[in-house]
Amino acid sequence: MKILKFGGTSVGSAERIKSLLEIVDPAERQIVVLSAVSGTTNVLVEISQAFLDGKRDEAKKLIHEHKEKYKQLVQDLFSTEEGLKKGNDLIDYHFNLIESLGNDIFTHTEEKVILAQGELLSRTLWHFHLTEIGVSSVLLPALDFMKIDEDNEPIVDYIAEKLQPLLDEHPDNSLFITQGYICRNSFGEIDNLRRGGSDYTASLIGSALRADEVQIWTDIDGMHNNDPRVVSGTKPIAHLSFDEAAELAYFGAKILHPQSVFPAQRYNVPVRILNTMNPQAPGTLISKEGSPNGMIRAIAAKDGIAAIHIHSTRMLLAYGFLRKVFEIFERYKTPIDMITTSEVAVSLTIDDTSNLLDIIKEVELFGKVGVDEGQTIICVVGDFAANTHGYAARVLDAVKHLPIRMISYGGSDYNVSILLDTVHKTEALRSLHNRLF
Ligand code: ADP
Ligand code: ASP
Ligand code: MG
Repeated sequence: MKILKFGGTSVGSAERIKSLLEIVDPAERQIVVLSAVSGTTNVLVEISQAFLDGKRDEAKKLIHEHKEKYKQLVQDLFSTEEGLKKGNDLIDYHFNLIESLGNDIFTHTEEKVILAQGELLSRTLWHFHLTEIGVSSVLLPALDFMKIDEDNEPIVDYIAEKLQPLLDEHPDNSLFITQGYICRNSFGEIDNLRRGGSDYTASLIGSALRADEVQIWTDIDGMHNNDPRVVSGTKPIAHLSFDEAAELAYFGAKILHPQSVFPAQRYNVPVRILNTMNPQAPGTLISKEGSPNGMIRAIAAKDGIAAIHIHSTRMLLAYGFLRKVFEIFERYKTPIDMITTSEVAVSLTIDDTSNLLDIIKEVELFGKVGVDEGQTIICVVGDFAANTHGYAARVLDAVKHLPIRMISYGGSDYNVSILLDTVHKTEALRSLHNRLF
């Protein structure tokens, strides 16, 4: 069994939706995971924000504008009267629901229902289209099997337990379609796997079913060796190990959701990144095989980082100090990404700043605290094992003209990370690219 995930641009127009069958072979038993049509989730975020801010007129204007785009999509996608009616009814249903949610008290619970509408729409639109052209497919409602726990962690065993019987009900069908991104939380409410979460859905399903392969179909020919939005001349990487891909995704390579590699790695399901616009391109294979030695493989950057610096003479020759500091972050469920220490000071970074003020108040009990927001982590992935030499020096040499706030080396064999102010990010990525590749 294969899991194929198509991203927003891959389902971004009627033309694209129709051409999915050039890639999907309906005779092969598989699950297709669809994202929302490109741009949709951004608009749903804007609509929700307008409702949260009490700006109902603004929200309604956005709803009507976006509904018109979907009406056009339905016109272009369906050719029979029945297809057009089903498509238009579907659009009316979802957009009426979005509008009605703003008529009453609007909280983050209603927001999450609105954010789910993009994936609910795209999956059913494709199913209706397939029905119209006589291709049989089965809808699998993600809300019936995708679940996260109270820490927002997906539950792979639950997914397997709920999904397998749904598949078993249809032994003679081969093409199953489901929604990416959306799930239920521990209260049973509609929730999501965070932005870009359809990749995560595909990898979780692949892991739950121990699939042969997960394919992430997107708008570029694989994971490139640097961010193509910032640096020109980037190249696709043919093969990455799970560890390397996980570092790149976690530290900012937008092509993959930050957590999407972990379940695939745990259950050893290979992930292939492929290009919908150029299906023949080999793309990137992510698997457990290691990469050739002695190479710098790729660079990624993650913005929106806060660096926290704690200076405390109590740290001198003390044990248990770091544990006490880390416990504060644990209590606020705030992951720490980078850390560097000296005898009397520790610097660490977080990207979730929602509890920053409370965290600082508590950390201040230990010593003097300084915070720098607007930082970027640049992560260089390659062979940095202890028995290799010269590679870390090359990384630092490439950014020697820029002010560096932190350096992390030796945490793993395949990663060097540096922290700098986001204003220097573009220059750092370009300089690293020019000197390392
Ligand atoms: P989808 O909608 O298919 O999920 P995304 O927009 O989430 O697509 O991810 C694909 C985009 O990721 C590419 O178009 C590219 O601009 C961006 N990107 C950022 N870093 C990388 C990288 N290292 N390799 C390839 N693409 C990257
Ligand atoms: N539609 C969602 C988003 O835009 C999920 C995804 O595209 O993967 O974030
Ligand atoms: Mg994406």
